[in-house]
Amino acid sequence: MASKKAIESILTSISANYGKRQKWITDVNLTWLSGLKGYSDRDVMTATKRWINNEDRPPTVANIRNTIKGLIGDDNATPAGCSRCDGTGCVEIAHHTAGKKGQPTSVKNLIAGCDCGAGQRLRSGSYAPWDVVVDRLRRDPYTLFVFHSDTDRPVLKTAERFAPETLERIAPSLTDPTRKDEWRQIGHGRRIPGGDE
Ligand SMILES: [Zn+2]
Repeated sequence: MASKKAIESILTSISANYGKRQKWITDVNLTWLSGLKGYSDRDVMTATKRWINNEDRPPTVANIRNTIKGLIGDDNATPAGCSRCDGTGCVEIAHHTAGKKGQPTSVKNLIAGCDCGAGQRLRSGSYAPWDVVVDRLRRDPYTLFVFHSDTDRPVLKTAERFAPETLERIAPSLTDPTRKDEWRQIGHGRRIPGGDE
């Protein structure tokens, strides 16, 4: 919550930078205090500084609010996802690797950030961009397949998520009979379009 002191300080800066009369600060003080009460002192000050550095007209309360939203992201509005990530911002990746020293194929399932707005938010956190992850995995000499969710398929198939050996074992318990055959497609060496050959 922005303090009285912070509001007075930004109003003084605005007044000094845009040639406002001294009385202006007293006139608008309460409006600004209530308009910015949802934000921290630091955000209010940073946004005002940014406005003063970039604009040649004095800001309104709404201008400062919008500038803060630009700084911290508007938590009330979830950025739009897309069809690749089904709105979640997450791209699902399955990495199939050849077993080393006679071990069976193993599969690691990963999540990476999508290209869309929802994904950008994740990517500014701890998630790497999906295409970077996929490229890196494809360069691994032990890689057999790299599957990732795509615009026409926001979730991976069961066959893509598990190693063939695992699928063979769990196939009888899968309720959807069409899924039981999916592992055979993998067995035929299908790779995703554009994958390294
Ligand atoms: Zn997306």
